[in-house]
Amino acid sequence: MTLPLEEILIRHIARNGPVDVGWFMNFALTHPEHGYYGHRDPLGRGGDFVTAPEISQMFGEMLGLWVADWWMRIGAPDPFILLECGPGRGTLMADALRATRHVSGFHAAAKIHLLEISPALRVKQKAALLGFSPCWHEGLEMLPGGMPIIALANEFLDALPFRQVQKTPEGWQERVINHDAAHGFFFALRPCDFEISQRLSPDLAQAPVGSIFEYSPAREGCILNLARRVMSQGGAALFIDYGHEGGGTGDTFQAVHVHRFCDVLEKVGEADLTSHVDFGALRKVLLAQGVPVYGPLPQGAFLKNLGIEVRAQDLLRKNGPEKADSLQKDLHRLCASSEMGTLFKVIAVSRFYETGLIPAGF
Ligand code: SAH
Repeated sequence: MTLPLEEILIRHIARNGPVDVGWFMNFALTHPEHGYYGHRDPLGRGGDFVTAPEISQMFGEMLGLWVADWWMRIGAPDPFILLECGPGRGTLMADALRATRHVSGFHAAAKIHLLEISPALRVKQKAALLGFSPCWHEGLEMLPGGMPIIALANEFLDALPFRQVQKTPEGWQERVINHDAAHGFFFALRPCDFEISQRLSPDLAQAPVGSIFEYSPAREGCILNLARRVMSQGGAALFIDYGHEGGGTGDTFQAVHVHRFCDVLEKVGEADLTSHVDFGALRKVLLAQGVPVYGPLPQGAFLKNLGIEVRAQDLLRKNGPEKADSLQKDLHRLCASSEMGTLFKVIAVSRFYETGLIPAGF
């Protein structure tokens, strides 16, 4: 059976020719009627994937304390924007707010803003944040000015589109998605446009034929946009995602449907599409603009620096021995190198403060 989004894509390709990976990803995830993020809750056991805040309350609590710590150190501005990009079910924000309820003046000063495209997830976020009055946006440009911004984003950047190029005996070519009746959807190659050619650094010249290089103008644009707002309005932003420190090649385009990896060209609009975030590229782009950058640091080290083990001990005392196993398991899942501890990385940006402040955990 052909899915509705596949029908639309087949017609689009027949009319306009093959589409690049970024176009395909954006189309499959955000098509207003049939896109992946349109009408479902992809998170949790019944969905497609599980994220750190859904594993344990400790994750959101630690990030809440990170925000409150920075807020106090920059002089407890009132009001300030507490922003989350891609808040999922609102779990991280709810845990962060609960963990900070005793920080004097913090809740009164925090104006909660959420960047979210999914109507289904907005409903969940509203329910998770009862008693608060969040403001939703589809883009950063609608955020108010005139006050500092402290932002959090977990597994948000990986959902933004990226492009791929492949080394061939004739040089680098862009990977695109084509369709015909005999093969269905398939990958093809086309000459690189000017923008992509500019991104091929000289160290890639040694890459063997078949190598794939990925880059994401959308992720770089998003973090740079937010960094510029933070630089002009004050505050800081923290991004956590799975990824690498860059410089290399490799195909990290992945599709997940009901907790299983599937072919990226299968189930268009029904599977979550992501790729690993190139933290090295993000760092480079930010530094080139004079933005103070911290990290990337492995998630495990970051959470331990923030005191997650002390929090786990505290929860253990409060919940009794019957919860000990699951608490240990959750802590291990978030921090161990064999789990999320190393693959997931944390990067932060801040305004340049003359006192030389460094955000907690770095
Ligand atoms: N941060 C959450 C959810 C991660 S899933 C957690 O850790 O559990 C990615 C989130 O980003 C979802 O809420 C999704 O709807 C949102 N999202 C994806 N692409 C987006 C875009 N282009 N603009 C705004 N939100 C987006």
